[in-house]
Amino acid sequence: MNINVIKSKRKTCEIKVNADGSVTIKAPNHYTNPMIKSIIETKADWIDQKLKWMSESEPPLCFELGSTLPVWYEAFTIEFSDRIDTYLDHAHKRIMINPKVKPEREAIKREVIKLLRVVLRNHLVARVKVLSEELNVQPNEIRVKLMKSRWGSCSSRGNLNFSLNLVLLPKEIVDYIIIHELAHLNELNHSSRFWRIVEKYHPRYVEDRKWLKMNTFNLNLN
Ligand SMILES: [Zn+2]
Repeated sequence: MNINVIKSKRKTCEIKVNADGSVTIKAPNHYTNPMIKSIIETKADWIDQKLKWMSESEPPLCFELGSTLPVWYEAFTIEFSDRIDTYLDHAHKRIMINPKVKPEREAIKREVIKLLRVVLRNHLVARVKVLSEELNVQPNEIRVKLMKSRWGSCSSRGNLNFSLNLVLLPKEIVDYIIIHELAHLNELNHSSRFWRIVEKYHPRYVEDRKWLKMNTFNLNLN
C-alpha cells in the first residue's frame, strides 16, 4: 500500500483513502513513525473497506462521443445531435451535442457541463419549492457550483449551494441532500435536533448517507 505521511502543526490525525488507492495520513509534528504505523494498523479494516468500495465503483467519467455518463444515475450516451442544439433525449437516453461543437474531449465536456447545469438547476428549483413548503422554511438563493468534495452547503444568509455532481445521482438521493440543506435553515449544525428534522422529512436518510459514501467515488464532473 502506498502511504503518504504529512506532518504539520495540527492536533489530531486524519486518514484519507485517495482516488488512486493510496493513503494519506496527516499527523501532528510530534508523532513518531511507530505511532503512525500503529494508527494505520488500527484503521486497517476501515482502509480495506474503502478500497473495496472504490474498486467496485464505476470507472471515472469519460466525455467522448459514444461514451456514457450517468444522468440521474442512468446511463446516457454522448452523441452528436440531429439538430443545431444540445439537449437530453430522455426517450433514448442520449446526451445530444450540437454538431457545431468540435469533436474534442474538452469541447464536448464543456458542452455537456453547460447542459447538465441547466438540467440540475431546473430540477433543484422545482424540488426546493415543494420541499421548502413541506419543511416550512424559506431559502434565499439556489446556486449550482462545481464542488468536488461536498454535495451541498447552506450559508447563514439562507443561500443553498449545490454541487453540479448532484445531476449524476438518483433523484431520491438528491431529495435527501435538498432536505439536509433545508433543515440547516432551522439548525445550522449537525446536532441531534438537526437529524430529527431530516428524519421527519426523509426517513431513509441513514441508508442514503451510506449509499453516498459507498457509491460516488468517481461521480465527479470536475
Ligand atoms: Zn450539513
